[in-house]
Amino acid sequence: MILDPKIVILVAEDHDFQRRTMVRMLHGLGIADVLEAANGREALEIIRSAPKPPEIVLSDLDMPEMDGMAFIHHLGEAKSGMEVIIISALDSVLLGSVAKMADAYGVQLLGVIEKPITHARLVQLLTAHRTARKAPQAVRPAPPPIFGWQEIRAGIANREFEPFFQPKIEMASGRVVGVEALARWRHPTRGIVAPYAFILELERHKDIDTLTFLMLEKAAHACRNWLAAGFDLTVSVNLSLTSLADTSLADRIIACVKGAGLEPKRMILEITETAAMTELAPALENLTRLRMHGFGLSIDDYGTGFASMQQLTRVPFTELKIDQGFITGCARNRAAHVIVEASLALARGLGLKAVAEGIETEEDWDTLKAAGCDIAQGYFLGRPLEEEAFLEFCRQRRSDT
Ligand code: C2E
Ligand code: MG
Ligand code: MG
Repeated sequence: MILDPKIVILVAEDHDFQRRTMVRMLHGLGIADVLEAANGREALEIIRSAPKPPEIVLSDLDMPEMDGMAFIHHLGEAKSGMEVIIISALDSVLLGSVAKMADAYGVQLLGVIEKPITHARLVQLLTAHRTARKAPQAVRPAPPPIFGWQEIRAGIANREFEPFFQPKIEMASGRVVGVEALARWRHPTRGIVAPYAFILELERHKDIDTLTFLMLEKAAHACRNWLAAGFDLTVSVNLSLTSLADTSLADRIIACVKGAGLEPKRMILEITETAAMTELAPALENLTRLRMHGFGLSIDDYGTGFASMQQLTRVPFTELKIDQGFITGCARNRAAHVIVEASLALARGLGLKAVAEGIETEEDWDTLKAAGCDIAQGYFLGRPLEEEAFLEFCRQRRSDT
């Protein structure tokens, strides 16, 4: 017996023969209580009036009156908590989008059965339900601590923020060629706090520059130390778009980095394209000035933002970082793979260094290397580390190669 025989299951399928086949299979598995609907609307009515609502819903996608998508949408809005199995003859790319949509509506998807439905697959997915239910309450990550702007400001004034450094590896040689500085808050009571807990709040109050300059200064110092230790590296620092509206930014960055004793050509500034460049003219003035003084300019999270193609033509970028959403798992995801290939071709055509961030496995590394990507970053190669630990990482890596 794979399931509690008292479980209620609903089958929504407009095709009579296929629906009856499924009902028969479910009866065969010992489930007595199987409800039937010929489309989404009927299914919703049955759910409303059933003495005991179903725990699992098997739904076709293409149905008259109300299709499977609208049905899932309603289940999500009603916060029904029902688990859904999609039955469909659609191709896997479309089914993947439906799965993402269900997730976005908060509907728990047990899986997809491609038609024709088989007994083995049905049992497999119903077992997924059983394990899901049996598993102890999923451990949710603790909600991120919410810091107020004033608290964050005070932390910055105390210089409690510092960069952690993640290696960038040249794929052809395996050499460490650079490092990205990622902000961390060494909080007096909460330990190491990640950027999502403070960047947005600072940006919202137009107060990100104090953090940016602390990062620039500490990253420049660290890079100088690594150079002195014999490592030929560049250091990347993230800039917020909101900072670029002030045309004095470039001169302040130049003064800060030179003041810390680092040549600008050793530093790459990363700009995320996710926020639209509202104040275009000052942003272009700043970026062009920085490039003129030798800084590298990187377009970060490429592929997720607005006007990405247009930005590439007007900003003098030197590097393109393909967003990790396309990189992680690209070896096994055809659509992601195609997008990565296209981004690499774009980078090559424009003479930009291509960086893949979010490489977590060897097979993704192999795929990107074969595709001709220049530089790799990701947990597979190294996590963000403190300054000393990063130096140790470089030493280790040099003695290994
Ligand atoms: P980002 O610039 O795109 O940085 C990459 C993020 O991906 C980092 O997260 C890094 O730890 C993470 N990462 C690296 N490799 C992998 C991997 O293989 N798998 C996965 N899942 N993640 C990986 P982090 O440090 O939490 O930073 C998040 C974002 O916060 C950064 O994204 C950047 O946009 C922003 N940020 C960080 N430091 C600063 C800063 O000093 N100033 C500004 N304005 N933004 C910053
Ligand atoms: Mg970045
Ligand atoms: Mg990124």
